[in-house]
Amino acid sequence: MDRRIISLGHACQRGVQGTRHSGVVTEPVVRRVDFGYFVRPADETGTGSPRVDPCLGYLVDHPAGPLLLDSGMGTHPEVEAHYRPRRRSLAVALAAVGARLEDIRLVVNCHLHFDHCGGNPELARCPIFAQRTELKAARETVDYTLPDLVDGPGLRYEVLDGEAEVLPGVLIVPTPGHTLGHQTLVVRRADGTVIVAGQSHDTASEYSADVLAWRAQRDGHAPPLPLAPAWMARLQELDPARVVFAHDHAVWEP
Ligand SMILES: [Zn+2]
Repeated sequence: MDRRIISLGHACQRGVQGTRHSGVVTEPVVRRVDFGYFVRPADETGTGSPRVDPCLGYLVDHPAGPLLLDSGMGTHPEVEAHYRPRRRSLAVALAAVGARLEDIRLVVNCHLHFDHCGGNPELARCPIFAQRTELKAARETVDYTLPDLVDGPGLRYEVLDGEAEVLPGVLIVPTPGHTLGHQTLVVRRADGTVIVAGQSHDTASEYSADVLAWRAQRDGHAPPLPLAPAWMARLQELDPARVVFAHDHAVWEP
């Protein structure tokens, strides 16, 4: 279980219990949730070979209650044939990090593709935070996602137009690129900020390249330079100690 703890404060190195005092969470802890994996076909990888990609969510164990970023892979015959997913159910994935489905209070999806909101129908009693632009794209764009995952029975949204603090010390920051309404979760902790960047980048290495591009630009380094996303300045301003991703086990650190 310790391997799944992303932000290791001194007190929480023993796992879930280490962050609690008399059953109360005293500081937000970010835990990786393993929803399984899928196989990206060769014609999507650019390498000529298929690639196995993990599907990862993140549980923020917060004093105000647990928040879940992303909820796993949705099911559809075309998805099964194309991506050949191997899933862990939401309940099983949460149990592996010491959480229960019924305890989740808030849901955030980095975006609404099928592999990020597959478990949302099981969390219909929780408010789901999404950018207005993302929700519009998911509802109006053909083949964007699995429609039942977006507007299934009882699903309700907290619609955002930009940055928001959804819990004390927990921010949502728009990070468009992979999708127009992609968003990133920022968790402030005493030992440093943890950023859950979802699919802003497929890999930690790609994120690293963009941080360096931003840095060279900031330093006034001579052109030509690669262009980093405009929002990189905002994320770096939040001084991340760790950045974690939806489809990469690797972690970015400064
Ligand atoms: Zn996506």
